[in-house]
Amino acid sequence: MSELKIAGLGKHFGKQRVLDNITLDVGQGSLLALLGPSGSGKTTLLRLLCGFERCDGGSIHIGGRLVSSPDVHLPPEHRHIGYVPQEGALFPHLSVADNIVFGLPRAERRQRHRVAELLEMVGLPASFAERAPQQLSGGQQQRVALARALAPKPALVLLDEPFSALDAALRGETRQAVAAALDASNTTALMVTHDQAEALTMGSQVAVLWQGRLLQVASPQTLYQRPASAALADFVGDAILLPGEAGNGEALCLLGRLPLLDDMPQGAVNVLLRPEQICLQPAGGSAPQAEVIDVSYYGHDASVRLMLADGSLLAARVPGHRSPQPGQRVSLSVEGAVACFAAPQQAQEASGGRGGLPAGATRLQHSPALFRHGS
Ligand code: ADP
Ligand code: MG
Repeated sequence: MSELKIAGLGKHFGKQRVLDNITLDVGQGSLLALLGPSGSGKTTLLRLLCGFERCDGGSIHIGGRLVSSPDVHLPPEHRHIGYVPQEGALFPHLSVADNIVFGLPRAERRQRHRVAELLEMVGLPASFAERAPQQLSGGQQQRVALARALAPKPALVLLDEPFSALDAALRGETRQAVAAALDASNTTALMVTHDQAEALTMGSQVAVLWQGRLLQVASPQTLYQRPASAALADFVGDAILLPGEAGNGEALCLLGRLPLLDDMPQGAVNVLLRPEQICLQPAGGSAPQAEVIDVSYYGHDASVRLMLADGSLLAARVPGHRSPQPGQRVSLSVEGAVACFAAPQQAQEASGGRGGLPAGATRLQHSPALFRHGS
């Protein structure tokens, strides 16, 4: 069952259409990550869900009840929604326990029995109850904010970039604690983020919002492996796009003949590779050859810039302990099946060559050398 159902939702501010025909279902107990760049309309969508804004088209149902449409507007306090903002959510003059029970009816506020339970759920010791918020780290404060949002057992919890103010070390640990608490309480949640790694690690589904439109809603694996467009491929990770020719379940490109995922287009295509799919071996044999131009070493892995025989460049990602030396010659192979996109021929000719590729994506020039490798 869908706890949250958004259908054809639209919102304008003056002449600007900020949300366009948004349709989205979030199943009971699941977490949907709404991923979009700054200005794409994420906060506006959350404000519509909360009831702080009115929609001008479509509808929102929460727990089977219509809460928003052009004719219906249920006020925020009747929507049964918990909200976790970016930061600074806690009242500094109240203890942790008083913050947690803040949203409960007066009678329940006095019985503190749920405070320990909620603290445990978000992975904090019960002894934190009497602390002041200032005595907690940023990550701990965000967990208390979640405990407060969960206290009235809401139908839906909304989280607006809840980890963006935390430093990297706290972020990972806080993400895990929050995901575990939402899971343990079987709460339906929608989390907004502009961080693709966060969306992929936390969402059971990820919805990508772009200039007010939903481009794709899919599991993290599907979104990463089979993004709906080349631009999206680059937004949800690093993309290498190679011109090629697809048919019979394979694509022929600069890196050889590669197996395709199911249901891919045929004919002239751009083949999508992820940098970690490229494997480096000692030079030699019939595989495509390359020279290592430079290496960015990160410890656990390394990004390796390679120059192919025809002078084109691409970046591979290898485990840190296998990182090569600049100047080394290597041969390349590709691990796993790949996706591809129909090459936008006309667009390519009209725009003088970039063919709708996103900024930052690697485009290799078509060259006759292409068909000499790997077949
Ligand atoms: P995000 O949260 O993804 O960064 P927002 O929902 O805050 O995006 O904003 C989406 C667009 O709507 C932006 O262009 C922003 O300037 C505009 N916008 C947001 N709120 C208002 C408002 N109250 N009045 C006019 N324009 C707004
Ligand atoms: Mg925002």
